[in-house]
Amino acid sequence: MSLSDHLAARIRADGPMSVADYMADCLLHPQFGYYTTRDPLGAKGDFITAPEISQMFGELIGLALAQAWLDQGSPAPFTLAELGPGRGTLMADLLRATRGVPGFHAAMQIHLVEASPTLRAAQAKALEGYAPQWLDTADTLPAQPLFLVANEFFDALPIRQFIRTGGHWSERRIGLADGALAFGLSPAAPQPALAHRLQDTSEGDLVELCEPAVPVTQAIAARIAAHGGGALIVDYGDWRALGDTLQALRAHEPAGPLQDPGQADLTAHVDFEALAMAAKTKGCGFTRLTPQGVFLERLGITDRARALAAPLQGAALDSLIAAHRRLTHPEEMGNLFKVLGLYPPQAAPLPGLNP
Ligand code: SAH
Repeated sequence: MSLSDHLAARIRADGPMSVADYMADCLLHPQFGYYTTRDPLGAKGDFITAPEISQMFGELIGLALAQAWLDQGSPAPFTLAELGPGRGTLMADLLRATRGVPGFHAAMQIHLVEASPTLRAAQAKALEGYAPQWLDTADTLPAQPLFLVANEFFDALPIRQFIRTGGHWSERRIGLADGALAFGLSPAAPQPALAHRLQDTSEGDLVELCEPAVPVTQAIAARIAAHGGGALIVDYGDWRALGDTLQALRAHEPAGPLQDPGQADLTAHVDFEALAMAAKTKGCGFTRLTPQGVFLERLGITDRARALAAPLQGAALDSLIAAHRRLTHPEEMGNLFKVLGLYPPQAAPLPGLNP
């Protein structure tokens, strides 16, 4: 039995499935899921993320969160949380960078929201000496001040795709054609959740809806609004999604999303407007959506790179310069990736971000 067999059997039994159900099985099926069964990160894996490119990323995120914690009067105890921590690299860099912040480590309770047993094991190793707690979902985070980071977490949450047909929407579904997985369309129907998209789309446009992002964002926002804290959400995407952004990556190369299910990373662009609106329903403030490059420059990445460069030469120096460029340059990750901050209504927005 493989994931393809499982998907075909499921389609034969229940009919064509939504893109969201397909993504959920591909990424997190307990036996065959992409994240459940492997560590996909790094140069030898399928993709590389900002914290894996350079320690500067996690260090600056850590100092930004610690500054917000100081600005809010150093509440103790507080939750230091990460959604989808991957190998634990960002959290390890964050913890090292904040060691000198008086009281921060004594007051923090580390919580990691992670679905993959394989990656939980990697995180435990990276964070040896600390005592993180693992959670399955964000809604079990403690009711206390919450300082949180999520890098490339929301892009892994399952999306549904709809094509506009008059004032209605046809859902894109995955079925079988000659025994192979194939896209199809369901009959057009009204979609109350897409009512606002009737204003900015026309016939035939494809829009995406990430339903699980809403309760996750609301769980975080509710804690920040009630108890204080702040969240930094970093991902690729834009204020509003338009068009098909479902993509598969395998060995750093694009692959067809229906090709070899469970063997490639599957992601979609993040619709940051949907996250901001979900936060707003809980009385939480949100910052302006800011390109990653601008955010990191404001936090002082160039000074940090200079300090790290001082003792280096040759290949090590070149690799540091390349990492700085990769994280910040508009033609690399600098513009494609965006940062959204969530903060309590009465507090200042987070360092590096504007209201
Ligand atoms: N933040 C890390 C890893 C990004 S990959 C980095 O920047 O390197 C996505 C991460 O989210 C993985 O750790 C994956 O296992 C986790 N993940 C994906 N879907 C999840 C879900 N529904 N619940 C919890 N964790 C999830």
